[in-house]
Amino acid sequence: MANITLHKLLIDGKFVAGEGATEAIHNPSTGEVIANIKEATLAQVEQATKAAATAFLTWSKTTPKDRATMLLALADSIDANAEVLAELESLNCGKPYAAALGDELPAVADVFRYFAGAARNMHGSAAGEYLAGHTSMIRRDPVGVIASIAPWNYPLMMAAWKLGPALAAGNTCVLKPSEMTPLTTLKLAELIHEIFPKGVVNIVLGRGQTVGAPLIAQPQVRMTSITGDVGTGQKIMENAANGIKRTHLELGGKAPVIVFNDADIPAAIEGLRAFGFYNAGQDCTAACRLYVEDKIYDKFVADYSATVSTIKVGTQREDGVEMGPLISARQRERVAGFVERASASKHMEITAGGKQIAGNGYFYAPTVVANALQTDEIVCKEVFG
Ligand code: NAD
Repeated sequence: MANITLHKLLIDGKFVAGEGATEAIHNPSTGEVIANIKEATLAQVEQATKAAATAFLTWSKTTPKDRATMLLALADSIDANAEVLAELESLNCGKPYAAALGDELPAVADVFRYFAGAARNMHGSAAGEYLAGHTSMIRRDPVGVIASIAPWNYPLMMAAWKLGPALAAGNTCVLKPSEMTPLTTLKLAELIHEIFPKGVVNIVLGRGQTVGAPLIAQPQVRMTSITGDVGTGQKIMENAANGIKRTHLELGGKAPVIVFNDADIPAAIEGLRAFGFYNAGQDCTAACRLYVEDKIYDKFVADYSATVSTIKVGTQREDGVEMGPLISARQRERVAGFVERASASKHMEITAGGKQIAGNGYFYAPTVVANALQTDEIVCKEVFG
């Protein structure tokens, strides 16, 4: 396994061991435990938010230039550590290594560069005399401590999306990665520690119930940013109502694709093969709901199913691998459940895949379900795999 020196929380500029329950971290391609990591206790969550609140007093007064300089340094450091980060991400998520290194890492560094630029390009409405003798203007100020909660499908990318804008605008953060995929966030914490003042970014580890819920409830937290399930988003909104906190929610998806009779069918199929199955379909933007016009329907289903069956499924470093496993045994059961229920119906047909792949990893064959109706569960609900 790539070297991460620390399996620790980052609180107030110090790496400290979690004092809560131990979480086993798995390699989804083999089912093996690759790390045992202790989650934060309530007291540690409180320390992290207090540290962020204290750091806010000075960080919020830094100039855009200073914040941009640090964000650019972080982007450079990510580039310099791209191979280690890609290895950790592919190991922890099961993603093909080449995709993690070639697709994700450049995008992660670019997010920090983008927000370094954005920090210096704030725009506001025109100032004016809306009340005689008084000049009114809108200025943008940082909000305060942001609680950022990330999911498991793009752990490092999500950390970048959460930290980049918040830090650029002068906020401080407490970030909690998914309990299943903390490894790249831990490595990122090392890089952040070398560049940013203490307390500006704090990292706490652990599950949603035991660490996420108390984190967002802390009185110092002024905004919660979460990417996750719709049900989780609802809980975040309930909590936000109590403290009148701001929220930023990125929740589930079920992207529709409409293919008309006169479409370039091979081009459509090629695009769908890529973007319906990228990251093993664990993508809120996965092209997973297809509406195909009647004249071409049967041929489209046959050609699409044949093409999907050629997707090479395998472990992180296998030659030519295009798709890895699902994140966990539980996620595979969830996906299999959708397919089994569709298969049990009288009108739907599984025209590709539809089965688990034998072995200890959490693999499921790329699958196409045809003849679904608008009211069917598989059309209405996000499968996420
Ligand atoms: P999840 O909602 O189970 O977990 C997301 C994060 O929320 C995790 O860190 C988890 O520990 C935490 N969490 C769970 N319960 C919490 C609570 N009560 N309080 C505070 N934190 C809590 O989602 P997941 O299974 O990790 O991710 C998959 C989901 O994320 C899918 O539904 C997918 O559509 C969605 N997603 C959306 C986007 C987007 O950009 N819209 C991107 C990726 C994933």
